[in-house]
Amino acid sequence: MIPVDVLESLAAEMVDYQKTGLSLVEVSHRGAVYGRVHTETITLIRELMSVPEDYSILLLGGGATLQFSMLPMNLLPTGKRADYINSGAWAYKAIGEARKAGDVNVIYDGVDENYTNLPDPKSIKPSPSAAYLHITSNETIGGLQWKSFPEFQDVPVVADMSSDILSRSIDVSKFGLIYAGAQKNLGPAGVSIVIIRNELLARSPRNLGSYLSYSVHAKANSLYNTPPVFPIWGMKLVLEGVKKQGGADVVASANTRKAAKLYEAIDTSEGFYRCPVNKSVRSDMNVVWRLQNEKLEARFIEDSTNAGLIGLKGHRSVGGCRASIYNALTEEAVDRLIAFMADFSAKNK
Ligand SMILES: *Cc1c(COP(=O)(O)O)cnc(C)c1O
Repeated sequence: MIPVDVLESLAAEMVDYQKTGLSLVEVSHRGAVYGRVHTETITLIRELMSVPEDYSILLLGGGATLQFSMLPMNLLPTGKRADYINSGAWAYKAIGEARKAGDVNVIYDGVDENYTNLPDPKSIKPSPSAAYLHITSNETIGGLQWKSFPEFQDVPVVADMSSDILSRSIDVSKFGLIYAGAQKNLGPAGVSIVIIRNELLARSPRNLGSYLSYSVHAKANSLYNTPPVFPIWGMKLVLEGVKKQGGADVVASANTRKAAKLYEAIDTSEGFYRCPVNKSVRSDMNVVWRLQNEKLEARFIEDSTNAGLIGLKGHRSVGGCRASIYNALTEEAVDRLIAFMADFSAKNK
């Protein structure tokens, strides 16, 4: 979801941006008007995520999916291996793409437990001379979220934070690289954020295609080519809203409250609803649950849609139900869902 006031600002200024007589989506990306939007967006990310000075913030096209490939192309040299944690559908995709680029070692595989659990970060041992360790901080489809992160002396930790970026405070200095498609928590689709420790930029091979090189984008401050102007503008407005709200900690406490209520409703339903995910790793962003059988699940989806509760169907690969309760989804919306769930279980017990 995108906050309504952000959508309204985009609509109001679409034709005439800040009385310049032009739309932001038609001015030059090298001009002063867009330049301010670009710089302010990067500054807001740095401020709201407390990104240390020795990290670059890149704004790229291609979605998080491009990062599945770009990451190993830049950070995984021949002769080294990259460690991956397979925690669900998105980690699995990241692994598949990395295998096309180099040598990959899956050091924890959650598939045996049907992706209902994550490893204890302290128990993780990287392979000897691993180029990096990749995790997916929030598994959007399975509804799992890392609550603390692995940390090593000499192996950079890389995280796909597409579905929980800026939903809580994290210590960026503990990561070598963080990437995220913006569209789940931060704005319109079309832009991804990459936050990379500067010393890792030296790993980008010189013979890599220019757009694929982190080093090229960092040197050009993400203006090597035309950046995705519209989603960056939308993201800037979302970030300004997060800042006005009080920052990541304030957003996080609202998110925790929203998720806790919903899990509580599931866990106290006397088995009518059931969350398959281990309690210690349940996501605050994507809450998944099952009903006793698929017929009842289909009825739940139908009735909830008719009641104006949209998008509760679980991903087609796993079935069941899922509420994506990203930053911009209000607590009132969660309350409405909980009330609907109580009503539905009373009628269908
Ligand atoms: C949505 C998602 C992606 C894919 O993002 P695109 O921008 O569509 O490529 C990758 N990883 C995670 C965790 C996601 O939730």
